[in-house]
Amino acid sequence: MANIGADIGANLAEVRRRMAAAAEDAGRDPQAADLVAVSKVQPAEAVRAALAAGQRLFGENRVQEAKTKFPPLREDYPDLRLHLIGPLQTNKVKDALALFDVIETVDRPKLARALAQEGEKRDLHPDCFIQVNTGEEPQKAGVPPAEADAFIAECRGLGLRVAGLMCIPPVDEEPALHFALLREIALRNRDGAPLALSMGMSADYETAIRFGADLVRVGTGVFGPRPVKAAPA
Ligand SMILES: *Cc1c(COP(=O)(O)O)cnc(C)c1O
Repeated sequence: MANIGADIGANLAEVRRRMAAAAEDAGRDPQAADLVAVSKVQPAEAVRAALAAGQRLFGENRVQEAKTKFPPLREDYPDLRLHLIGPLQTNKVKDALALFDVIETVDRPKLARALAQEGEKRDLHPDCFIQVNTGEEPQKAGVPPAEADAFIAECRGLGLRVAGLMCIPPVDEEPALHFALLREIALRNRDGAPLALSMGMSADYETAIRFGADLVRVGTGVFGPRPVKAAPA
């Protein structure tokens, strides 16, 4: 059987090496972008292997899964940081505030209001990213690009800490166009501090870094193929 820990350690080293090379190519600091290791569906042992290899920043797309997997890991690694990268229902906002350091998927006024209200009550103020549906795909979450400026202003008005923007380009289009669009929206909405850009996944994180990504979200490139759950009968 393959040594999972050694594979994950080697994958992490390779992803980091390619990230640094892409940044240097683009004339950026080699450490310019941070790696969010996307551990959705992966067992806790895989996350532990990444932690042992020095990775501290992780992404999960489901509140419930993060709730069972991460609290024990945090106990052992208090400096671990967790980003929510999947859709958030308003009835899960309390759990999400308790679990995640950063919420990358703020995409509608109702959610923004719930985050602001619950965050106020609990005195929890995570960094929030606004998800932009750069491809305007009907099945995909995110605000349409034309509504991004108004929504960012609305979130700021509610008191959310708007730290950045996030996008997931359509699978069948050139991602660079979407990365460039996200950067344009970030530049025109900066408010003193620049807005961070979360963009790029296993297939395109080097391109994303050339286009200014501050965070890349890499799952299979770090952990290998995601385990497939048996379909319910
Ligand atoms: C799963 C996921 C990723 C990682 O995808 P890979 O192709 O495995 O790197 C990144 N971002 C989001 C929002 C995801 O859901």
